[in-house]
Amino acid sequence: MSQHDPAECSFCGDRAIGIGMGFTSPRDKDPKFLCVDCSFMIDNIQRLKRPDAYKLKARAGGMDAAGPLVEEYGSDLGEWTEEQVLIFCGRIWDGCTKRLRQLVRSGDAPF
Ligand SMILES: [Zn+2]
Repeated sequence: MSQHDPAECSFCGDRAIGIGMGFTSPRDKDPKFLCVDCSFMIDNIQRLKRPDAYKLKARAGGMDAAGPLVEEYGSDLGEWTEEQVLIFCGRIWDGCTKRLRQLVRSGDAPF
């Protein structure tokens, strides 16, 4: 992939746009493209000391978002259709990214 063709947000994994956090050195080849939502909080993201800690804590958002689907589809995932599993995965992904952005915007340490 060309460095000019953003594919996924370097922070949350959503579809990126042509805005990145930039290079950290002359040898850095990754412009760290961001998605639309993350691009609005680029300053907050650049100030993070431990982004992985935020991502770890954001998993709870995925769990919260997916919980109602387990109630709706039943707790035996082996009985789910492929479409239900894909919806489930999408709900988890969305829940994680939304929680991740909430945590970053809040400015609170995730630990
Ligand atoms: Zn993003």
